[in-house]
Amino acid sequence: MDPVLQALQSAEIYVESDVSARKLSTFAAGGMVQRLVLPADVRQLQCAMRIMRPVRYHVLGGGSNSLVSDFGLAWVLSTKRLKGITVSGDRLVAAAGETLPALAKAACAEGLGGVEFAAGIPGTVGGALKMNAGAYGETMADTVEYATVVTADEVRQVPKNELHLRYRSSQIGGVVAEVGFVLSPKDRGAIEATIRDMQTARAAAQPHQASLGCVFKAAGGVAAAKLIQGCGLKGTRIGGAQVSGVHCNFIVNMGGATARDYLRLVDVVKKAVYERYGVYLEEEFVHLHD
Ligand SMILES: Cc1cc2nc3c(=O)[nH]c(=O)nc-3n(C[C@H](O)[C@H](O)[C@H](O)COP(=O)(O)OP(=O)(O)OC[C@H]3O[C@@H](n4cnc5c(N)ncnc54)[C@H](O)[C@@H]3O)c2cc1C
Repeated sequence: MDPVLQALQSAEIYVESDVSARKLSTFAAGGMVQRLVLPADVRQLQCAMRIMRPVRYHVLGGGSNSLVSDFGLAWVLSTKRLKGITVSGDRLVAAAGETLPALAKAACAEGLGGVEFAAGIPGTVGGALKMNAGAYGETMADTVEYATVVTADEVRQVPKNELHLRYRSSQIGGVVAEVGFVLSPKDRGAIEATIRDMQTARAAAQPHQASLGCVFKAAGGVAAAKLIQGCGLKGTRIGGAQVSGVHCNFIVNMGGATARDYLRLVDVVKKAVYERYGVYLEEEFVHLHD
């Protein structure tokens, strides 16, 4: 048996074998993940990282920003079982595997505002910190105080200024195990109303098919969707992947799409936007491949 797998099993760390990436990425495409490692807490997370030192592995949260190669991946470390949210006064700490809707709901239940935007984003807290996710003018960076970051060698509380949270990016040297937020007391009814308005706006503006959300970052303050639409690319299809007719910065899976279809469409869009506007679009999604 593979010695890494054997060591993980001896440490009682849960591993699933031969999992389709279609179940792990919200684009519902990609090959097989040979080993999906699912630590249950911070101690197991660090133990897994130590054991997995000799292999190349990828970190995955909700897979809502991750395109997995059609050739699959050998090793994936999933944060999905890292769960728990605690609140003390205006401070909330969420484990990395909690979903963003669960984060928004917990904050709302305590009458704490500041993460309403998270209610409609289908990722995990850890993935959202890594991407500095945001919507409606707010981002994770606005309320994060620190993150507990794990490496094979240490578990460290990293203050916000060392996370280098920028527009849809960060610099985090390890796996995020939990995130601490400082929120603002706010009327529960007002929080619920804000969340409802955001959900309504989202439902009207975004497609319902499988996707990874926005494909490209805004370019110099200009929405990528506007540039893509300006190139007449709405509805352009390669294989099972299509530039959404509802929101041009979404590539949706119309059924049976491959990661290659997605990437070929990304190339078509980038080339067209560059030729028409001289603007180089930068990808927002992450492409995971061995
Ligand atoms: C329908 C839809 C709507 C969306 N709307 C928005 C939106 O409004 N705003 C927005 O910003 N995004 C949006 N997204 C994109 C996506 O949901 C966010 O980027 C989300 O925060 C990603 O979280 P995740 O857990 O799914 O990340 P994943 O896709 O699992 O991972 C993303 C990246 O983070 C890394 N990562 C994941 N977890 C950790 C961890 N614990 N520690 C270290 N690195 C980690 C991964 O290795 C990868 O590089 C949308 C996506 C979809 C499908």
